[in-house]
Amino acid sequence: MEGSRVRTLAEDRVLVTGGAGFIGSHLCERLLALSKDVLCVDNFYTGTRTNVSHLLREPHFELMRHDVTFPLYVEVDRIYNLACPASPIHYQFDPVQTTKTSVHGAINMLGLAKRLKATILQASTSEVYGDPKTHPQREDYWGNVNPIGPRSCYDEGKRCAETLFFDYYRQHRLAIKVARIFNTYGPRMHPNDGRVVSNFIVQALKGTDITVYGDGSQTRSFCYVSDLVEALVRLMDTSSEFTGPINLGNPKEFTILELAETIVRMTASRSKIVFKPLPTDDPVQRQPDISLARREFAWEPKVPLDEGLRETIDYFKRTLQ
Ligand code: NAD
Ligand code: UDP
Ligand code: UDP
Repeated sequence: MEGSRVRTLAEDRVLVTGGAGFIGSHLCERLLALSKDVLCVDNFYTGTRTNVSHLLREPHFELMRHDVTFPLYVEVDRIYNLACPASPIHYQFDPVQTTKTSVHGAINMLGLAKRLKATILQASTSEVYGDPKTHPQREDYWGNVNPIGPRSCYDEGKRCAETLFFDYYRQHRLAIKVARIFNTYGPRMHPNDGRVVSNFIVQALKGTDITVYGDGSQTRSFCYVSDLVEALVRLMDTSSEFTGPINLGNPKEFTILELAETIVRMTASRSKIVFKPLPTDDPVQRQPDISLARREFAWEPKVPLDEGLRETIDYFKRTLQ
């Protein structure tokens, strides 16, 4: 056994779909640090090999190019299903493929989990609440989602994936975990994904106008990626009866204008803040109620916005050079 670790736990082999993406690459890193064998599956639609290139030399890391809309036959103990483009620009580029990734991808990964009796975690989203009529959003809120708008491929795809997860749970007694992730940011966000944190930082660093959509009074709450990854790992470790859905995000709420001003200040940028039209179906307010995560696994985000932004700004400074 020299040179190789002796396996003691049945849950050592972990599949991360979408593992070469922003959140997925941080999750792969964390799982390796926890001595797991990590199989990262990605079709590089929005993720890149560069995001995981530093992991390729790790003996317990394997990277596989594969599209989850096709069946996948591998042997693992746990599955984190993150594969799906996450930013409006990317998921609206090929909306049919977005729905297929959520729905066919969920069916295939659930079929895989069923065959292996593996626990499977779904990266769902706060978008299942749509433009919420209750505030903050609790898990028992059913949402206010437009089924036919430009965001629907993502929102309804993720809602259908949740339905599939709960049907496999009820019908096949599968061990499932459904995480509803709220806006997350950090290093390895795609610089052109149109999301607000990456857009504002890139604009501030380049000295171009900071584009606030609407009057900037809409709110979001931003969770730093290391906090989110910690929550995903803790969720996976909950007892088999615990399914979620569970909100994961940072409850501290900011207006988009406050975010723009903070980033301008932190980068000492000369960029001007300009106002552009608000996109269709853009939610006015979004804030997670995380009491369930606090209760179930004593989790709450630790990284304050300015600290997380500093790391993210440093990352973009390095990559934009
Ligand atoms: P990302 O785009 O960086 O990562 C998604 C990854 O999935 C990419 O590497 C992409 O190449 C891969 N992928 C896409 N389609 C695929 C397919 N058909 N087969 C295999 N791989 C495929 O986005 P992210 O921000 O890291 O998001 C990860 C997950 O978390 C997504 O499911 C997303 O919906 C969810 N989520 C993210 C946020 C956020 O704020 N970042 C919020 C809510 C939910
Ligand atoms: N599947 C997979 N890997 C597996 C087992 C199943 O990708 O190891 C896919 C398979 O292609 C199927 C889907 O998962 O279409 C759903 O599987 P399930 O067993 O639930 O349904 P069935 O095969 O009966 O349609
Ligand atoms: N937004 C903005 N300027 C940008 C990009 C986004 O004002 O350059 C706004 C957007 O309209 C939304 C908020 O920031 O109100 C968050 O947008 P993002 O796309 O990051 O996430 P989501 O809408 O999915 O929460």
